Amino acid sequence: NLEKDLAFTHIKRPAKSILCMPIKYKGKIQAFLYLENHVLLNAFSNVQLELLRLISTQMAVTLENTEIYNELDNRVKERTISLDQMNVSLKDANERLAINEQERKKLLQSISHELRSPLTSTLGYIESILDGVVQNPEQQIYYLQRSRERLIALNRLIQDLFELAKLEAGRMDFSFTKVSVHEFFEEFAYRFEANVLGANLSYSASGNLQPNQYVLIDLLRMEQVISNFISNAIKYTEKGRISLKMSVEDGELVCIVEDSGIGIPEHELPFIFDSYFRASNSNVLNSHGIGLAICKEIITQHHGKIYADSKETGSRFYFTLPIQSI
Ligand code: ADP
Repeated sequence: NLEKDLAFTHIKRPAKSILCMPIKYKGKIQAFLYLENHVLLNAFSNVQLELLRLISTQMAVTLENTEIYNELDNRVKERTISLDQMNVSLKDANERLAINEQERKKLLQSISHELRSPLTSTLGYIESILDGVVQNPEQQIYYLQRSRERLIALNRLIQDLFELAKLEAGRMDFSFTKVSVHEFFEEFAYRFEANVLGANLSYSASGNLQPNQYVLIDLLRMEQVISNFISNAIKYTEKGRISLKMSVEDGELVCIVEDSGIGIPEHELPFIFDSYFRASNSNVLNSHGIGLAICKEIITQHHGKIYADSKETGSRFYFTLPIQSI
């Protein structure tokens, strides 16, 4: 049976003496050491038996070593791969840190300039009145009015800076309410019409929205986003029109503000929502490049997305908000 089991098919003649020793490893027989003699009966003595036992024990140890070695080898390979991956991500993180550091420096420079310049000019106006350099009462009033304007703008800039910092740090509280998309449109469709008409531009609002579809929004923050889109549109549109359009597409509310203004160079569009980014078209005083970054943070907190595209005929700023399942 043993011969059959072990499939020693090459053996033609039956053996006269057989010595067979199993090689056991992990409680299982892994192989056999097999000796046979075709000439003598009782050919094997205790000496050969002991020798075979020794060899089979050694082979079992070798098997164990091989497995441990393979396992170690695999582990070393796995660790090397994960170390390589860690190295790559550390390199990326370092590069990002270096870029952030450069941006932080640029940003500090630009903020300190924007804070300093209105303060310096206001101080100049006030000192020239107090030192008696400007004595004409009309001129004094003119200087005081300019000072007030610059301080109001400075105050707004400081508020925006705080707001952006709070939003970016996730420390801004939102008060979400469920509003139907129809109500949303009604709420904002004509809210800013007067501002647009006041800038001698034409205005239109259009929307085809169902009352049974809802969005989860903070109304005040949404007003801030749409108002920012519209006031930018007014700033960068000399003549023509501004329109507000809302629709629901693929399970999302889409809100678009379109203008017929000066447009934005295509290569600058990818950066338009970055904090403190001003496109090369921006020569307007009181432009800080913070408004759109705030809008992006607000829309992101609403799980929505924000976009801008532009042609020579004007720009389109829009955001999407997920429609809520009822
Ligand atoms: P700000 O208007 O205070 O500079 P924003 O973050 O609101 O800051 O806008 C960033 C820049 O995007 C602006 O400086 C301007 O260059 C550009 N921009 C925004 N809206 C428009 C628009 N409707 N048309 C043309 N350019 C725009």
